[in-house]
Amino acid sequence: MSNPRVLVLEALSAGARLRLEADRARHLKTVLRLDAGDAVRVFNGRDGEWRARIETADKRGLALRVEEFLRVARATPDLDLLFAPVKRHATDLIVEKATELGVRRLRPVLTARTIAETVRVDRLALIAREAAEQSDRFDAPEILPPSPLAKALDGWDTARTLIYADEARGDAGGEGERMMRPILDALRDRSLQGEAKLATLTGPEGGFEPSERRLLRSLPFVLPVSLGPRILRAETAAIAALAVVQAASGDWCD
Ligand code: SAH
Repeated sequence: MSNPRVLVLEALSAGARLRLEADRARHLKTVLRLDAGDAVRVFNGRDGEWRARIETADKRGLALRVEEFLRVARATPDLDLLFAPVKRHATDLIVEKATELGVRRLRPVLTARTIAETVRVDRLALIAREAAEQSDRFDAPEILPPSPLAKALDGWDTARTLIYADEARGDAGGEGERMMRPILDALRDRSLQGEAKLATLTGPEGGFEPSERRLLRSLPFVLPVSLGPRILRAETAAIAALAVVQAASGDWCD
């Protein structure tokens, strides 16, 4: 089995010494049963991945010494996921899967029908870090504090196309509103290949309100898309949309 990966914030170079505090060391010590003399791989998005050796293991944590450079960091695509937080388990799933799928930023947005309890950003950051370690990423996605949808749209960087998963079928849309199209057609037409900045948006269990839908459809940077004839659960929609975007325009094309 290859050595476990550990995401760290510190700069990495040969000979550098790191400490993993007790909470971070617990998994390595008690589950993987690593001890002094064993190797791990430490990495961050700047310095890439390095082999490190455990020098001491005690109750307070692990002391590591960085030994050898292994791999340069690969950049994560500039892809954001805006999602309405849902029930706790489903939100956790969205964060874990979005990390595996290569999202750079996770932005919880509060919509009219969002009913989630409070969003625990620190908890989600932990899930994202573990998913990053396991999925061979070099960074963990940034998790922004929740913000109202209207505010996120207000301050939008118009160079970033927002691929909006619109569940309303058979709804022709009013004047000035763009029709949603099957996601792959919409992505191909817009020819987003090589377009640097993308984002996807999915709604809560109850979907978007008509007024939100009208607003989204009227904005020039929004690309309304359908994810097929079935209504997907919010978490399924987020994961499915990201997979299609990555395959059509993201780093699954590399
Ligand atoms: N209760 C709503 C469904 C909400 S599904 C209803 O019955 O209409 C939750 C979110 O997943 C939606 O807001 C949308 O962003 C996305 N979604 C689900 N199915 C979809 C589909 N077939 N096409 C596009 N988006 C979809």
